[in-house]
Amino acid sequence: MGVERLRPEEIRGGTDVSYSQICDRRLWLSVHNIYITDGTEFVMEGKYLAENREHPGFSRVKVGSNVIDNLEILPDGTALVHEYKRGGRKALKADVLQLAHYLNCLLSGYGVEARGILHLTGSRKVVEIALPEHLQELQEAYRKIESMTVSEIPQAKRNWFCRRGGCSYVEFCWGGGR
Ligand code: SF4
Repeated sequence: MGVERLRPEEIRGGTDVSYSQICDRRLWLSVHNIYITDGTEFVMEGKYLAENREHPGFSRVKVGSNVIDNLEILPDGTALVHEYKRGGRKALKADVLQLAHYLNCLLSGYGVEARGILHLTGSRKVVEIALPEHLQELQEAYRKIESMTVSEIPQAKRNWFCRRGGCSYVEFCWGGGR
Protein backbone atom coordinates (compact mmCIF):
# COMPACT_ATOMS: atom_id res chain seq x y z
CA MET A 1 0.00 0.00 0.00
CA GLY A 2 1.45 3.42 -0.91
CA VAL A 3 1.67 6.45 1.31
CA GLU A 4 -0.40 9.37 0.14
CA ARG A 5 1.56 12.01 -1.71
CA LEU A 6 2.21 15.08 0.42
CA ARG A 7 2.48 18.65 -0.79
CA PRO A 8 5.24 20.60 0.97
CA GLU A 9 2.75 22.97 2.59
CA GLU A 10 0.97 19.95 4.09
CA ILE A 11 4.07 18.45 5.63
CA ARG A 12 3.92 18.56 9.40
CA GLY A 13 6.94 18.47 11.66
CA GLY A 14 8.67 15.14 12.15
CA THR A 15 8.34 15.53 15.90
CA ASP A 16 4.63 14.66 15.59
CA VAL A 17 5.58 11.43 13.84
CA SER A 18 7.96 10.75 16.70
CA TYR A 19 5.33 11.55 19.35
CA SER A 20 2.86 9.22 17.62
CA GLN A 21 5.13 6.36 18.73
CA ILE A 22 5.68 7.64 22.26
CA CYS A 23 2.55 9.09 23.86
CA ASP A 24 -0.90 10.01 22.50
CA ARG A 25 -1.27 12.86 24.97
CA ARG A 26 2.01 14.43 23.96
CA LEU A 27 1.06 14.04 20.31
CA TRP A 28 -2.30 15.74 20.93
CA LEU A 29 -0.61 18.68 22.70
CA SER A 30 1.79 19.12 19.82
CA VAL A 31 -0.91 18.82 17.15
CA HIS A 32 -2.83 21.57 18.98
CA ASN A 33 0.29 23.75 19.21
CA ILE A 34 0.51 23.67 23.00
CA TYR A 35 4.20 23.82 23.87
CA ILE A 36 6.17 23.94 27.09
CA THR A 37 9.68 25.31 26.90
CA ASP A 38 10.95 25.14 30.45
CA GLY A 39 14.56 24.93 31.52
CA THR A 40 14.73 21.21 32.28
CA GLU A 41 18.02 19.48 31.64
CA PHE A 42 16.49 17.63 28.71
CA VAL A 43 15.17 20.74 27.00
CA MET A 44 18.51 22.46 27.59
CA GLU A 45 20.39 19.46 26.25
CA GLY A 46 18.21 19.36 23.12
CA LYS A 47 18.86 23.06 22.56
CA TYR A 48 22.59 22.55 23.00
CA LEU A 49 22.62 19.63 20.53
CA ALA A 50 20.56 21.60 18.02
CA GLU A 51 22.99 24.50 18.19
CA ASN A 52 26.23 22.53 18.14
CA ARG A 53 25.84 19.31 16.23
CA GLU A 54 26.41 20.58 12.73
CA HIS A 55 29.37 18.98 10.98
CA PRO A 56 31.59 20.77 8.46
CA GLY A 57 30.23 20.36 4.93
CA PHE A 58 26.62 19.89 5.99
CA SER A 59 23.76 22.34 6.47
CA ARG A 60 20.52 22.35 8.40
CA VAL A 61 17.67 22.35 5.91
CA LYS A 62 14.03 23.28 6.31
CA VAL A 63 11.53 21.07 4.46
CA GLY A 64 7.96 22.28 5.04
CA SER A 65 7.72 22.58 8.81
CA ASN A 66 10.54 20.08 9.31
CA VAL A 67 14.10 21.02 10.17
CA ILE A 68 16.53 18.31 9.09
CA ASP A 69 19.79 18.17 11.06
CA ASN A 70 22.07 17.67 8.09
CA LEU A 71 21.53 17.02 4.40
CA GLU A 72 24.26 15.66 2.17
CA ILE A 73 23.75 15.77 -1.60
CA LEU A 74 25.58 12.94 -3.35
CA PRO A 75 27.15 13.12 -6.85
CA ASP A 76 24.41 10.88 -8.29
CA GLY A 77 21.72 13.39 -7.27
CA THR A 78 20.41 11.35 -4.35
CA ALA A 79 20.75 12.56 -0.79
CA LEU A 80 21.65 11.44 2.71
CA VAL A 81 19.67 12.83 5.62
CA HIS A 82 21.60 12.82 8.92
CA GLU A 83 19.74 12.92 12.22
CA TYR A 84 21.43 13.00 15.62
CA LYS A 85 19.73 11.43 18.65
CA ARG A 86 21.05 11.00 22.15
CA GLY A 87 20.17 7.29 22.17
CA GLY A 88 22.16 4.25 23.17
CA ARG A 89 22.87 1.22 21.05
CA LYS A 90 19.31 0.55 19.89
CA ALA A 91 17.44 2.97 17.64
CA LEU A 92 13.99 3.90 18.96
CA LYS A 93 11.06 3.34 16.63
CA ALA A 94 10.05 6.97 17.20
CA ASP A 95 13.42 8.18 15.87
CA VAL A 96 13.43 5.73 12.97
CA LEU A 97 9.95 6.82 11.82
CA GLN A 98 10.79 10.51 12.24
CA LEU A 99 13.72 10.06 9.90
CA ALA A 100 11.62 7.96 7.50
CA HIS A 101 9.13 10.85 7.48
CA TYR A 102 11.86 13.24 6.36
CA LEU A 103 12.77 10.86 3.55
CA ASN A 104 9.12 10.70 2.53
CA CYS A 105 8.81 14.50 2.60
CA LEU A 106 11.84 14.90 0.35
CA LEU A 107 10.56 12.30 -2.10
CA SER A 108 6.88 13.26 -2.07
CA GLY A 109 7.32 17.00 -1.90
CA TYR A 110 10.46 17.58 -3.94
CA GLY A 111 11.20 14.38 -5.88
CA VAL A 112 14.49 13.91 -4.02
CA GLU A 113 15.41 10.28 -3.30
CA ALA A 114 17.20 10.05 0.00
CA ARG A 115 18.50 7.52 2.50
CA GLY A 116 18.69 8.23 6.19
CA ILE A 117 21.55 7.94 8.65
CA LEU A 118 20.57 7.94 12.30
CA HIS A 119 23.50 8.85 14.57
CA LEU A 120 23.08 7.61 18.13
CA THR A 121 25.32 9.96 20.03
CA GLY A 122 25.25 7.88 23.23
CA SER A 123 26.98 4.94 21.55
CA ARG A 124 28.35 6.58 18.38
CA LYS A 125 26.44 3.90 16.47
CA VAL A 126 24.91 4.73 13.10
CA VAL A 127 21.78 3.10 11.70
CA GLU A 128 20.86 3.32 8.02
CA ILE A 129 17.19 3.93 7.24
CA ALA A 130 15.51 3.15 3.90
CA LEU A 131 12.05 4.61 3.26
CA PRO A 132 10.34 1.55 1.66
CA GLU A 133 10.82 -0.49 4.83
CA HIS A 134 8.80 2.00 6.86
CA LEU A 135 6.05 3.22 4.51
CA GLN A 136 3.28 1.17 6.10
CA GLU A 137 4.09 2.28 9.65
CA LEU A 138 4.44 5.85 8.43
CA GLN A 139 0.97 5.78 6.93
CA GLU A 140 -0.44 4.54 10.24
CA ALA A 141 1.39 7.34 12.04
CA TYR A 142 -0.07 9.95 9.64
CA ARG A 143 -3.59 8.59 10.27
CA LYS A 144 -3.05 8.77 14.00
CA ILE A 145 -1.79 12.36 13.78
CA GLU A 146 -4.82 13.30 11.67
CA SER A 147 -7.19 11.68 14.17
CA MET A 148 -5.72 13.82 16.97
CA THR A 149 -6.91 17.03 15.29
CA VAL A 150 -10.53 16.16 16.12
CA SER A 151 -10.20 14.09 19.29
CA GLU A 152 -10.37 15.11 22.95
CA ILE A 153 -7.09 15.31 24.82
CA PRO A 154 -6.08 11.75 25.84
CA GLN A 155 -5.65 10.89 29.51
CA ALA A 156 -2.09 10.89 30.81
CA LYS A 157 -0.63 7.39 30.99
CA ARG A 158 2.69 6.84 32.66
CA ASN A 159 5.35 5.62 30.28
CA TRP A 160 9.14 5.62 30.09
CA PHE A 161 9.17 8.97 28.32
CA CYS A 162 7.45 10.87 31.15
CA ARG A 163 10.63 11.16 33.12
CA ARG A 164 13.46 9.12 31.66
CA GLY A 165 12.77 10.41 28.16
CA GLY A 166 12.67 14.00 29.43
CA CYS A 167 9.12 14.92 28.43
CA SER A 168 8.70 18.67 28.91
CA TYR A 169 4.99 18.20 29.79
CA VAL A 170 5.74 16.19 32.92
CA GLU A 171 4.67 18.98 35.31
CA PHE A 172 1.51 19.57 33.28
CA CYS A 173 0.55 15.88 33.42
CA TRP A 174 1.75 14.90 36.85
CA GLY A 175 2.32 18.08 38.85
CA GLY A 176 4.87 17.50 41.63
CA GLY A 177 4.35 13.73 41.52
CA ARG A 178 6.75 12.97 38.71
S1 SF4 B 1 4.47 13.50 30.76
FE1 SF4 B 1 4.09 11.39 30.09
S2 SF4 B 1 1.86 11.27 29.84
FE2 SF4 B 1 2.41 13.45 29.87
S3 SF4 B 1 2.64 14.02 27.74
FE3 SF4 B 1 4.67 13.48 28.53
S4 SF4 B 1 4.96 11.32 28.02
FE4 SF4 B 1 2.77 11.78 27.83
